[in-house]
Amino acid sequence: MDTKPPRLFLTRFAPSPTGYLHIGHAASLLEIWDDADKNPGNFLLRIEDIDGTRCRPEFETSIYKDLEWLGIQTSHPIRRQSDHFSDYKKILDKLENENLIYPCFCTRKEIEQEIKNAPSAPHGITGHIYPGTCKHLSKTERNEKIQSGHPYALRLNLDACLKQITGKTLKWHDILKGEQVTTPDLLHNTHGDVVLARKDTPASYHLCVTHDDALQNISQITRGDDLFQSTHIHRLLQEILGYDTPLYHHHPLMTDKTGRRFAKRDKSLTLKDIRQKGISAAQLKNMILHSNIDELLI
Ligand code: GLU
Repeated sequence: MDTKPPRLFLTRFAPSPTGYLHIGHAASLLEIWDDADKNPGNFLLRIEDIDGTRCRPEFETSIYKDLEWLGIQTSHPIRRQSDHFSDYKKILDKLENENLIYPCFCTRKEIEQEIKNAPSAPHGITGHIYPGTCKHLSKTERNEKIQSGHPYALRLNLDACLKQITGKTLKWHDILKGEQVTTPDLLHNTHGDVVLARKDTPASYHLCVTHDDALQNISQITRGDDLFQSTHIHRLLQEILGYDTPLYHHHPLMTDKTGRRFAKRDKSLTLKDIRQKGISAAQLKNMILHSNIDELLI
């Protein structure tokens, strides 16, 4: 019998301060806030600032201003991921002890060359799938390279992970798309041996987000459709690390009239600029609600 108490509703917004929030973030936030509003107080903000080369303090400051302007508050403490690198290191150590990750010494150029030599390599969501070159190095070869100061990334050993969970079906539920199954084929063809840490980023998005959502007891994750495929790798990590699986809501991304999605590069559509144009938060919410943001594009 399952003796676990029912989970309380808790959702979150987890931006990376690598640019100003834009209209797409506002659309996401309004979806999140709408869910949280039905369950007051059950919203938290997490700052995903693991990439020290791209995150900037002014972007983080602007996130707080944007939320305040939109009338969104959290009564939960704000977690900044860069304060918790030692937590992520512990998970990496655990995965290393279980031989579920391995050091990869390949440069980007070497990987491209390997892929050129094997033209039938599957194309994942963020480019070609890593061909697994360093997975086959011996322990001695690895140690020699590490001791000689060769920089390396840590990659998930997908085959070893799948072996560990043999016989289990990895399911998760998306509010809009229904039940999803994370199959081995899907993981091989869309992700492969993903990077969990690099020299300049000691823990990856996949690792930190999966850990933090579990640590913070997030029961529902609402985010853009661009992260839908990433959820498969998160579901695998949840199984490997013994974490609960939240409910997911991947919403369609906002696009302009030509169907092009908005991104941080669309400077005129940052919330900071929209605020400065004198548009009120209520007006913006109305425009998003009616998918009519033409006024902002002038
Ligand atoms: N930090 C990620 C981003 O800004 C989003 C994380 C998530 O919602 O899972 O793209």
